[in-house]
Amino acid sequence: MAISTTIESLIELWESFFKNYYKTELDGLSLSYPEKRSLIVDYWDVDQYEPELAEFLLSSPNKAFYTAEEALKRIDYPTDKPVHPHLRVKNLPDHAKIGIRNLRSIHLASYVACEGLIKKITEVRPKLQTAAFQCGRCGAIVKISQEERTLTEPVECYEDQGGCGRQTTFKLLTPSSILIDSQKVELQESPEGLRGGAQPERLTIYLEDDIVGEVVPGDRVKINGILMTEIRRSGSMKLTELSKVMFAYSVEQQQQAFDEVVINPEDEEEILRLSRQPDIYDKIVSSIAPSIYGMATEKEALAYQLFGGVAKEMPDGTRVRGDIHILFVGDPGVAKSQLLRYVSRLAPRSIYASGRSSSAAGLTAAAVKDEFGEGRWVLEAGALVLADQGIACIDEMDKMSSQDRSALHEAMEQQEVTVTKAGINASLKTRCALLGAANPKLGRFDEFMPMHEQINMPPALLSRFDLIFSLTDKPDPKFDKMLASHILNSHRAGQIKEIRKKNPGSEYASIDDSALVKAISPEIAPEAFRKYVAYAKRNCFPVMTEEAIEAIMNYYVDLRNRSKDSIPFTARQLEAFVRIAEASAKMRLAPAADMSDARRAIKIVEYYLQKVGMDRETGAFDIDVIATGISHSQQDRMQKITAIIKRLAKESEDGTAQMDDITREAEIDGINRDKTEDAIQQMRKRGTLMEKRTNRFSPV
Ligand code: ADP
Ligand code: MG
Repeated sequence: MAISTTIESLIELWESFFKNYYKTELDGLSLSYPEKRSLIVDYWDVDQYEPELAEFLLSSPNKAFYTAEEALKRIDYPTDKPVHPHLRVKNLPDHAKIGIRNLRSIHLASYVACEGLIKKITEVRPKLQTAAFQCGRCGAIVKISQEERTLTEPVECYEDQGGCGRQTTFKLLTPSSILIDSQKVELQESPEGLRGGAQPERLTIYLEDDIVGEVVPGDRVKINGILMTEIRRSGSMKLTELSKVMFAYSVEQQQQAFDEVVINPEDEEEILRLSRQPDIYDKIVSSIAPSIYGMATEKEALAYQLFGGVAKEMPDGTRVRGDIHILFVGDPGVAKSQLLRYVSRLAPRSIYASGRSSSAAGLTAAAVKDEFGEGRWVLEAGALVLADQGIACIDEMDKMSSQDRSALHEAMEQQEVTVTKAGINASLKTRCALLGAANPKLGRFDEFMPMHEQINMPPALLSRFDLIFSLTDKPDPKFDKMLASHILNSHRAGQIKEIRKKNPGSEYASIDDSALVKAISPEIAPEAFRKYVAYAKRNCFPVMTEEAIEAIMNYYVDLRNRSKDSIPFTARQLEAFVRIAEASAKMRLAPAADMSDARRAIKIVEYYLQKVGMDRETGAFDIDVIATGISHSQQDRMQKITAIIKRLAKESEDGTAQMDDITREAEIDGINRDKTEDAIQQMRKRGTLMEKRTNRFSPV
């Protein structure tokens, strides 16, 4: 039995649907009308009531919504005031869910659901729904309902509205017009749906009335609406090629972490089985970028980052991040970019971006005025906001702009960025782990130069990273041979695969290449890996055991004690231990972070400190080396030398101290000549010392 689709019968159908399914909601709505003015209906309720009406809604939404809203006006409400609610239908069936890049002409004028990330939003602005015009001759007021995006003006002073019938000039009267709020947003395809390296496609969406102001950039949403076209102009000419836009009826937020990864009961069984394997750590680490040779510790760090620690709210209300930030600094060609790309494909909700990206939003977010806003301010999300609840992989961080550099502090630690500009005052979430890579300014990493000078990042920003790895590319015959063999063999495996595909009859068809392939295949396939991580993130919240706390505490105290004259460690590094231990426990889905996890955390932090945080003279760990580039013993020496210079300069006639005098005096203090000259060079570079004339110095 096909339903009748005349206006009147549709209205009747809707009316009886509302009365049968949504009576309580409508009664409630009428009492808080007009503050609340939308009835939210589940698609499947309509489907249950009358499947053909549900289908009609998808194929002819304009007529369906018009008749439904007419029906809503006829309902008997328990109030005297007029109630004219909007209808908003959500939870559309899968066949109405269309990927942004798959939208075609056949979808025009139908009701569809599009999923993605909010990239930009404009300010909310009032829009004329019914415009009132005053006649310049007789003063009568005529009203015109505004269906188009451009203003429709009266052609004459309409007699049926009490006017004089003449064609004259009109004045727009906003107080007598009906205005509704409107907002334009841009939806961008989620990175998960993208095939390697493709640029995400975007869709312009119009929101009206009570659904404006509901989304912020970075939100993951499903927007249900009618796909329409918009005239494109080139100068004053209209083009025949139209652009697609969506007129939104409802917005569904998808906030739960990792909910795009579906885990069924069989998956769960497999995940639990995996977690009980004694070599689960090796399995996980060897599943990260298997085509990249070596870097076992760096890959282990990436594993901790993928699982992450536990974000928590302290009893005093402060929030502490669980995300582990990692930075790779090093020589060109050591596969930094390759690792970042691999992680961005492996981890759900992750974004790969370059620090030098020219997007106005930069790495965090910005308010801009662009074409999209048509004169309005636009709030646009950058990589860290788009990667909320995922991993932001930022390559070439050394090339980022100074605005980004300063915005990152807040984004990394508070995991929020605030934008206040023009009418926009927003705070956007950046609850993501940051995986950064940086190339040293001078091309190669110089182990004896402070890191922050080499990669153009201030020490305060560097201290936000839980782990920093320096990757140097030094010739080492044994390692080079293994690396070369790995790369060459993986190319060979690829070559064999190609020829088999293109020429199945070739002699390579029968060759046994399983050993070659095995070396570069992950132990756990990427799909299963993602499920494992998502499962751990959703279900595993480890608590530290007393022994683990004790182990970390002892290590911390011992380390500070071992290097007495330096300040080796701050509480910030202590938090890194906690996060890594939590991640380590999550990797085997354990309810507690125990001794073994504490040991893993200590081991990896120690590895990192040994590489970048060690005072090369005393062998003691020294966080000052990372923070300021000068170890504590160097600082000590500089102080002593500065004192000598001050004294000599004061005693001299021209207010300067001579090099020979300085080194002689310093030698009495137990500092040899080389070290003195080195320290003087350093201080000159830092601007704490001036060379007035050759070899004559004065303090600044
Ligand atoms: P970076 O970003 O550090 O400058 P890339 O990621 O662009 O370096 O790497 C350069 C090339 O060298 C890539 O094709 C990468 O696969 C290869 N490569 C470098 N180191 C390794 C390694 N350890 N194992 C496998 N391939 C490597
Ligand atoms: Mg690179």
